[in-house]
Amino acid sequence: MDIRTVGIVGAGQMGNGIAHVFALAGYDVLLNDISDEGLKKAMATIEKNLDRQVGRGKITAEEKAAALGRIRTTMKLADLGPTDLIIEAATERETVKQAIFDDLLPHLKPTTILTSNTSSISITRLASRTDRPEKFMGFHFMNPVPVMQLVELIRGIATDNETWDSLHEVVRRLGKTAASAEDFPAFIVNRILMPMINEAVYTLYEGVGSVKSIDESLKLGANHPMGPLELADFIGLDTCLAIMNVLHEGLADTKYRPCPLLTKYVEAGWLGRKTQRGFYDYRGETPVPTR
Ligand code: NAD
Repeated sequence: MDIRTVGIVGAGQMGNGIAHVFALAGYDVLLNDISDEGLKKAMATIEKNLDRQVGRGKITAEEKAAALGRIRTTMKLADLGPTDLIIEAATERETVKQAIFDDLLPHLKPTTILTSNTSSISITRLASRTDRPEKFMGFHFMNPVPVMQLVELIRGIATDNETWDSLHEVVRRLGKTAASAEDFPAFIVNRILMPMINEAVYTLYEGVGSVKSIDESLKLGANHPMGPLELADFIGLDTCLAIMNVLHEGLADTKYRPCPLLTKYVEAGWLGRKTQRGFYDYRGETPVPTR
């Protein structure tokens, strides 16, 4: 199937990054969010990130202008109906995602491919509520989308080969690399990454190390480019907790129980960089550990 137009639902840190890379690759993009402020912020972020790429000589000023010209925003989900491909990138909560697909369905063309950028939720279950489970897939981009090379392609139990091939071709056109994952909780990247982050929070919770010593240990001792707590703040602590809950419930193994300290940070609304406070406080010039 020839994909030219893309509808993206959710204009948060992932949605704006996805809009950025699709527009730069020549697709027409329609970006939707329930928050007008969120849409404005997303466009400002996309422009800032494109400017950075121009500054580094990765793209020209003309390519930046053309990309920005290909992105339109809307608060009406129905406007996404005529697009060829939907990428749902809203909050990591199954009820939110289900409601989005329920509301979208009456407006879609029969050929539109549906995808979710979920980090962990069952693709098969999301697909089963729609009228086209064979045209439904997991399309998992990494954060920050313009920088990260990998895209996980997740097949639901009913996904057909044509849909998989179409998305594989899209990934190629974006200049990224696809990894194929089966539809089990959190797929590949987060199945491995999140338990490590959760263990880092347990290490903090049990007083084995401070925020600083834990992050430094993994950076200097395991050659990780970011420490696990710094990375958790970057991903969003609400998203990390949601993924741990999906692993815990979906695999029914206590080794995936979310650390109570992670829950406490989320309950406090300290969700990491996006709320300016998490394991670090980002309100000043340099990040300061909060424990
Ligand atoms: P975010 O909190 O930055 O953004 C979520 C956006 O969804 C917000 O702008 C919110 O207003 C919007 N939203 C909520 N309900 C909506 C609705 N009904 N209709 C339209 N928009 C709605 O979250 P994020 O980090 O961008 O995560 C989005 C998705 O991407 C999640 O499924 C997450 O698991 C996944 N993901 C996140 C990362 C990461 O590192 N943060 C990486 C890969 C995938």
